[in-house]
Amino acid sequence: MQIVNIDRVSYRYDGGYAIQDISFSAEEGDLVGIIGPNGSGKTTLFNCMLGILTGYSGTITIFGQDIRKSKAPLKQIGYVPQKHAIEPGFPATVEEIVSLGIMRGKPARERIITALETVDMAREKDRRIGELSGGQQQRVLIAKALVNDPALLILDEPATGIDIETQNRFYSLMTRLNKENKLTIIMSSHDLDAVNRLANRVACINRSMFFHGDTHEFFENEDLLKKYSEASMQAHMHLHSHH
Ligand code: ADP
Repeated sequence: MQIVNIDRVSYRYDGGYAIQDISFSAEEGDLVGIIGPNGSGKTTLFNCMLGILTGYSGTITIFGQDIRKSKAPLKQIGYVPQKHAIEPGFPATVEEIVSLGIMRGKPARERIITALETVDMAREKDRRIGELSGGQQQRVLIAKALVNDPALLILDEPATGIDIETQNRFYSLMTRLNKENKLTIIMSSHDLDAVNRLANRVACINRSMFFHGDTHEFFENEDLLKKYSEASMQAHMHLHSHH
């Protein structure tokens, strides 16, 4: 079953196109890696998929519904935004943070605990989020995204700014959610090794579509990899020329 279909989607801000003619799809059980350097439009694309940005052209279909006609089915989508720094000592507890993810109905304690168990954080439920390590905070935010029992999990640059050991732990969690819990996952990253290890499909974007297909097709194609690293180097220089 097709979970997501992105068909020639473009979005422009006042300054110009952030994404142009992006197309890819995700089938049930896929773990899709969205690869692209900083500023390549990954967050913009996710915001279109979540119904936060509506002025895009092209068609986004999620669970078989055109989201322009039926609104993004947010209850069935868990979203983990790009990491925000949580203030040390931020007073909300782990349980409270996860309860914020509940879309409808009363905060059901059982659902919160189940989500925390999935990410192995149930024991910390009464602790303050601001006292936890970066990796633990990230797992709490994943629990918050899982609390509605979604069929699709979207993560924006989840491995940025966490140490290697924590990253590896995070990657095994993704594999477990994908393989055991049968969750379809779309994850953006600029860590090519991680995508190569985890994803069965990749969509490589650089404002416009660069490649879409099976992971091994991308990583075994040296020309493509070379072109990608050149393109992302250029994007990197472009970004820094503004500073
Ligand atoms: P990524 O997530 O891949 O880093 P973004 O989607 O955040 O990329 O950004 C894509 C491009 O759109 C960048 O050039 C960025 O400067 C621009 N952009 C992002 N948000 C806005 C905005 N609110 N207004 C204008 N331009 C924006």
